[in-house]
Amino acid sequence: MHKAKACVIGCIDFRFRGATDNFLKSESWADSYDLISIAGSSRDFIKPMKETHGDYAWLQLGLSIKLHEPDLVVFVDHQDCGGYAQDGTIPGGLERDEDREKHSEMLEQLKGKLLEKYPNLLFRFYHIDFDGGVKELLV
Ligand SMILES: [Zn+2]
Repeated sequence: MHKAKACVIGCIDFRFRGATDNFLKSESWADSYDLISIAGSSRDFIKPMKETHGDYAWLQLGLSIKLHEPDLVVFVDHQDCGGYAQDGTIPGGLERDEDREKHSEMLEQLKGKLLEKYPNLLFRFYHIDFDGGVKELLV
């Protein structure tokens, strides 16, 4: 068994790669985490465009948990996310604070689902903005 300290779910968006990498490197679990990159980060877990997208996202998280037993699962969403903007669930081009608020609403729903499925794990939710600012969303 290879145990990871965390499983991180982030978006594919290259515009936030530097800020995301810097943030991840700064965390106490930086030397030991699984990384799942999905367009939209948390989106497919809570409001997938197609049911199969949601199934795949949950499958990937389930595999990380089964194979590497992380105690912590971290979601990293970001401003102006095209994954969320596909159908206007969170429109593109919002100001930072409004964008964070919309992500918080989605992540709050997600947290409920996560705790139902994995009551013994810890979950954290972050939002990265265009200036590289990282804020933990306390949902
Ligand atoms: Zn994105």
